[in-house]
Amino acid sequence: MRLFSYMRADAPALAVRATAGQPGATTSASAQFLAGGTSLYDLMKLEVQNPKRLVDINGLTAGYSGIRLTPQGLSLGALARMSAVAEDLAIQRDYPVIAQALQLAASPQLRNMASLGGNVLQRTRCSYFRDVSWRQCNKRLPGSGCAAINGVNRKHAVLGVSERCIAEYPGDLAQALIALDAEVTIQGPSGERRLAFSKLHLSSGESPEIETVLAPGDLITGFFVPAAPWTRRSVYLKVRDRQSYEFAAASAAVALQLDDGVVRAVRIGLGGVAGKPWRAHAAEARLTGARLDESTAQAAAQAAFADAITHGGNRAKPELGRRTLVRALLQAQAMEA
Ligand code: FAD
Ligand code: SF4
Repeated sequence: MRLFSYMRADAPALAVRATAGQPGATTSASAQFLAGGTSLYDLMKLEVQNPKRLVDINGLTAGYSGIRLTPQGLSLGALARMSAVAEDLAIQRDYPVIAQALQLAASPQLRNMASLGGNVLQRTRCSYFRDVSWRQCNKRLPGSGCAAINGVNRKHAVLGVSERCIAEYPGDLAQALIALDAEVTIQGPSGERRLAFSKLHLSSGESPEIETVLAPGDLITGFFVPAAPWTRRSVYLKVRDRQSYEFAAASAAVALQLDDGVVRAVRIGLGGVAGKPWRAHAAEARLTGARLDESTAQAAAQAAFADAITHGGNRAKPELGRRTLVRALLQAQAMEA
């Protein structure tokens, strides 16, 4: 780990000022916000991220960790801990996909430390990215190449990938947020703005090192999930190499509105298979207006992975992703909502 300076901010404007104007995209900037530290400290110890300044935002916890349900929707502070949201009984009842995505993430100790803001901004688990002895990694060293494309890539993404990077987005919560049309609130150097959560993360494309639309100084302060007829009948299904304490090999966040067995509306987020939190619009279109059964669920799953691109080691991913989505849809159908 390299030397860095530390300061604690007790007001958002101070935190924003202390990081704004520092060079680099947010995730590689020379000043970083520190929330739970469960992701950032790891990457600093590995020397993948080497910020010169850490701005501790835990002084903002009192104002930015609220959980509030109203008839309009669910507001979540960015500094709410994963465990607090996962254990909230009203969220388990009205927005089960959010509670389940968090319950199935990481470990109890990590969930007690980690914040929602830090969770959605966690970086890929690609082992070439996390090991600086590998010289080829466009995300870490732009222009250096991608060791994973012809390397060990069983866990890598098949949707939203590019010739420059096939890294998977590893988080769980983001799939639930994208499925439920969430918004994110950002406090930046020029004030506050709200953004569709689906616009926060960027595809790897030409510049895999730029992962979000956040600029230096942009602080996520919260999330809003609008109330909708499909939030109660919602499920997060996560398939992984072992039953706990493991990232998704494939996951599906599904929210359904049914009318006598016919799909009035459906929202689908996919995880473990894509370069960013992934909304499966083609699958949603396939299901809307159809009677939900195994065959229509499978047709939707085919549509979801129609554009999948594999690279040898991850050729099982599309089928795994399809099966995960079919199971999630049928589980949501079986719920009492
Ligand atoms: P930090 O480490 O403090 O910050 C992470 C990044 O976000 C930093 O760049 C920081 O500057 C930035 N940041 C933090 N808060 C804000 C904000 N409000 N505004 C702007 N930028 C901000 N996650 C899963 O989803 N599923 C899993 O199965 C899972 N398994 C894990 C297993 C292990 C062993 C570990 C170590 C982690 C695992 N995680 C998993 C990831 C874990 O959930 C994240 O490390 C955690 O959520 C990050 O939150 P944090 O508050 O600790 O963020
Ligand atoms: Fe780097 Fe992306 Fe290639 Fe992994 S997949 S080595 S993160 S460029």
